[in-house]
Amino acid sequence: MSNTTDVTSPLRRSLLIGLVYASLGALWIAGSDYALSFLFREPESLTSAQTFKGWFFIGVTALLLVWAINRQFRRYRDVIQANSEQAAAIRELSQFRESIIDNANIWINVFDVDGRIIVWNKAAELISGYSKEEVLRRGVAWEWLYPEEDYRQRVFVAARSVVTDGEDLTDYETCITTRDGERRRMCWNARRFFSPGGAVVGAIAIATDVTEQRKLEREARASSRQLKTLMDNLPGMAYRCQFDASWTMKFVSDGCRELTGYAPEELIENRVVSFADMVEDVDNEETVRVVEQAIAQAEPYSIEYALTRRDGRRIWIWERGRGVQVDDDLMLEGILMDISDRKILEEELASMATRDALTGLYNRREAERRLEAEIRRAERYERPVALLWLDLDHFKTVNDRHGHAKGDEVLRRVSGLIADSIRSVDIAARYGGEEFLVVLPERGLAEACDTAERLRQLIESEVVTVGGDSVVRLSASIGVAVFPDHASSADELCHEADQAMYAAKRAGRNQVFRAGQSAGERRKKPSRH
Ligand code: GH3
Ligand code: MG
Ligand code: MG
Repeated sequence: MSNTTDVTSPLRRSLLIGLVYASLGALWIAGSDYALSFLFREPESLTSAQTFKGWFFIGVTALLLVWAINRQFRRYRDVIQANSEQAAAIRELSQFRESIIDNANIWINVFDVDGRIIVWNKAAELISGYSKEEVLRRGVAWEWLYPEEDYRQRVFVAARSVVTDGEDLTDYETCITTRDGERRRMCWNARRFFSPGGAVVGAIAIATDVTEQRKLEREARASSRQLKTLMDNLPGMAYRCQFDASWTMKFVSDGCRELTGYAPEELIENRVVSFADMVEDVDNEETVRVVEQAIAQAEPYSIEYALTRRDGRRIWIWERGRGVQVDDDLMLEGILMDISDRKILEEELASMATRDALTGLYNRREAERRLEAEIRRAERYERPVALLWLDLDHFKTVNDRHGHAKGDEVLRRVSGLIADSIRSVDIAARYGGEEFLVVLPERGLAEACDTAERLRQLIESEVVTVGGDSVVRLSASIGVAVFPDHASSADELCHEADQAMYAAKRAGRNQVFRAGQSAGERRKKPSRH
């Protein structure tokens, strides 16, 4: 309706204006002639007046005409200018659209109702390897992208339904084959495409290459599955905890059950027990120190400590972990393992290395090491250390008379006597054969001689039965030397004590001799039974 009005109105208006002009002109001519004939009676002056009136009419109408035409031209110029601006804007917009389509890093293509490609952007060229020139206005791209017939049909049916049924395709994934024969996974979104007149032209399809993303997702799934398998089969327990006083657990693997006796959910967030509750206090302080140091140096930590299980059993733990930043919080992540078996073995090995197998006293090497340490300490604090050197008298006869096994039993009995009669800071060792050492830290000569004498008496009064009524009578000769009175080193001290012991032997055995004491100056008369 409005279109029709617009088209006919200039003609109508022109006719109207012409009609008005003709009527007004006729009225003017008739009216003015009539009026002039009254005003100018003289034919001559009437002619002049009429001529003037004619010129006046021409002048006025010419002015009106100029005004009207000028107005019209102006309008016309404005319209033309507006049109050309609009045309430029449209051109710009379409260039802009084309450049967006072309340069978008997502695949954009448009296909018509028959599947022929109408738009094929740069991303489509880049991903597929097929150029615009090869695919445009043809349907061959389908065969290239989907060489496998059945698969192609399935994809084509889905694509056609967008055009025919108007159903949008959302996140529809297909696997295309590129020109290089590479397979890439594409995620499609497609919808109907209309012409400006409103007719269905085809469908516009937009796709993103999700090959890498899917690959990463697959890998992430596989690695989380692997991680779970690993966690479930870990010989110990994996954890993530806060670095706080309770070692608040945020995650623990299933191994927690076997290791601690608690279920993971009981330990997580300290619900039933905190990890710190299980760790021995002494170990905990040391653990905190080591962990703090490792975090400061951004290094992993390895620690060993004792832990009390739910059933009260004490086990040894080996732990390795490191500090990690999780959402601005410092967390510790790592694994724990029960190393009790190893710890027992280690303790056994350590004991084998330091203890005498027969008597359980320290062995010679350990005795020497400890004596050295005591002497160093004594030097530092200017305190004395005494050494007793003890050798059983006529021990060979015990072996000869009662057998080696009985001899061993006697050695064990004597070891027991020595161990029971000394302080916990004293060090008793079997030096070899039937020779024993006793190191007495902080003991001067008088106290050491008293201890030696007490030992001598204990051994003397020890009765070892040997089948029936017969007994083994024992006695020992003991040499005493004191650091720094008699010696300035461990070796010297041993030598002095050993010499004193020999002096005691020479003086008749079963007695205590101090270093430097000669057989003539017996300190104590041995009491014989
Ligand atoms: P004395 O010291 O009083 O001079 O006489 P002794 O008979 O004790 O002499 P000596 O120290 O020479 O002899 C040590 C004996 O100790 C020799 C050996 O038969 C015995 N002996 C050494 N080691 C062991 C051992 O491990 N087990 C047993 N049963 N006997 C040992
Ligand atoms: Mg002997
Ligand atoms: Mg001997």
